Amino acid sequence: MVETKFDKSYVKNCIEEVVPLVEEESKLKCNLKNFGVILLSKSRLEEYTKIEDSFGGYVTGTNLFLLFNEPIGNEEATKLVLGHEVTHHAQDNSFPNFYEGVSVLEKQRKIKHDRLSPLMKLIEGDATFIERKLKEKYFKHAMMSIGESPMAPYEFFQDLDYLSWANILEKKFNGNRRNINELYTAPIEELVKIFRE
Ligand SMILES: [Zn+2]
Repeated sequence: MVETKFDKSYVKNCIEEVVPLVEEESKLKCNLKNFGVILLSKSRLEEYTKIEDSFGGYVTGTNLFLLFNEPIGNEEATKLVLGHEVTHHAQDNSFPNFYEGVSVLEKQRKIKHDRLSPLMKLIEGDATFIERKLKEKYFKHAMMSIGESPMAPYEFFQDLDYLSWANILEKKFNGNRRNINELYTAPIEELVKIFRE
């Protein structure tokens, strides 16, 4: 196997591969004619995303993606992390007003998950839902390794709350994209109801 250098152009190629897959699965639209990638140390990344143990990020209202500057596993794992972030871009690009409403709340991301706004639950639940679809269809062999840990299946490292919100979308709507995408313009009360349990 040829060693690939983990750098910006490598990550950009991964994003370009993942964009049409995200669009197909989510039925949302990206707008990434000129997009940028910033590779960051773990502490800088956490500082920016306000999420502990985050591996990637998307800068709202831009075409900018953030990623941990070391490989977190095999290439399929990198593409899944990027698929999640590209979904955030697709949400933001398709429903700009939605993200505006959440930007204030995002600053409070360090608050406990159960106190997160239902808007955040939709954003993260749906990005995790798409991430899982990509895994099932294209990246079944994604493996991760963090720090000194040996390689383990990707899902072992996924956030359980994010997965539970993805499950709610899967169960309630049977994965129907038209219904799920309607949530982005639904009244907040409806989102509260959906994510209450
Ligand atoms: Zn996310």
